[in-house]
Amino acid sequence: MGTVKSRFDTMAVHAGMEGLTEAGSHVPPIDLSTTNPLVSVESGGDSYEQLAMGGDLLPGHSPVYQRLWQPGVARFETALAALEGAHNSVAFSSGMAALTAALIASVNNGRKHMVGVRPLYGGTDHVLSMGLLGTTVTWCDAHEVRAAIRPDTGFVIIETPANPTLELIDIARVVAQSGDVPVLVDNTFATPVLQRPIEHGATLVLHSATKYLGGHGDVMGGVIAANEEWVARLRQVRALTGGLLHPFAAYFLHRGIRTLPVRVRAQQATASEIVRRIQGHKAVARVLYPGLPGSDPEGIVGRQMKGSGSMLAIDLAGGYNAAVQFTQACELIVNAVSLGGVDSLVQHPASLTHRPVAPEARPAAGVVRLSIGLEDVDDLTADILHALESVSP
Ligand SMILES: *Cc1c(COP(=O)(O)O)cnc(C)c1O
Repeated sequence: MGTVKSRFDTMAVHAGMEGLTEAGSHVPPIDLSTTNPLVSVESGGDSYEQLAMGGDLLPGHSPVYQRLWQPGVARFETALAALEGAHNSVAFSSGMAALTAALIASVNNGRKHMVGVRPLYGGTDHVLSMGLLGTTVTWCDAHEVRAAIRPDTGFVIIETPANPTLELIDIARVVAQSGDVPVLVDNTFATPVLQRPIEHGATLVLHSATKYLGGHGDVMGGVIAANEEWVARLRQVRALTGGLLHPFAAYFLHRGIRTLPVRVRAQQATASEIVRRIQGHKAVARVLYPGLPGSDPEGIVGRQMKGSGSMLAIDLAGGYNAAVQFTQACELIVNAVSLGGVDSLVQHPASLTHRPVAPEARPAAGVVRLSIGLEDVDDLTADILHALESVSP
């Protein structure tokens, strides 16, 4: 079975589906049990101890309680881990719950200091800046990581492509500077279809599963793919703090990743065609997109990232006012936060998601961010060109 199901697109469809045929099912059953009958008092106790310590469910044992183990969640975790090439993954109720669990695990390990390479997702920047969990943060550029690390550093956190500027970071170079300190890569934008950070030395790979993994804008979730040691730690934190993924959400996310490769590639093809068509428009100061000549001096697309993805940003020549006008003039493309779904979205980061971010780290006021979906490329281009025309010079 290993060789038959080992290629990426085949794994996306089949990973986490083990044992279904034997059980007479074609898709994973949704088990809503909050508690599970114990096989015997003794084996129940063994199972409880095993799961509370972050271990796997023992064969023939009861999952005991949904906060400790949920079969549909475990299937989704197995599937995502297969795509990331990780030992396993741990799923949470949202991307922020996943990040919080990683921070709690670090603090509990005596490591309260984090190193953050800006720009990061607005919420990530906010939670680190606030020091909500008693953490402190040193912000730095990707080439300054070595100097920023201290004996009590829990992890280095990076995001590539970054939000919303689509800047790229060489993961292996950050890992080389980090020594024994784990590197956490937020892989939400790239997805494992385009980038597998563990292959470049990352220890933790975080996703807001709300975005591309779900892919339809109808389910929230977060997940961290990691090695055995971190999986156990994160499961313990989840069991203690309860930031659980609901079984319905797990079902939708598992279903979502079956079409992830085709969605990501189709959306990417449309995005790169749109970029080609809008470049040079008089209202556009600059298009921000990973594949553009000149925007990728280190040659990361092709080496670390298989393609440029379907997120792009436009820096409007007219600054703040132009960005607001553009965003409001889009008709087919909906003005809304979030990304990675089948329908295209536009948002203005400086006035929305990056408002809580320190002024020096806030994106330029004229930048609008687009998440390109699965609509027809001509319809999307027409909507964008119409919005560009409506921007006053
Ligand atoms: C949305 C997002 C998050 C936060 O995830 P939620 O599921 O909204 O909690 C983290 N990182 C990135 C890059 C995101 O886009």
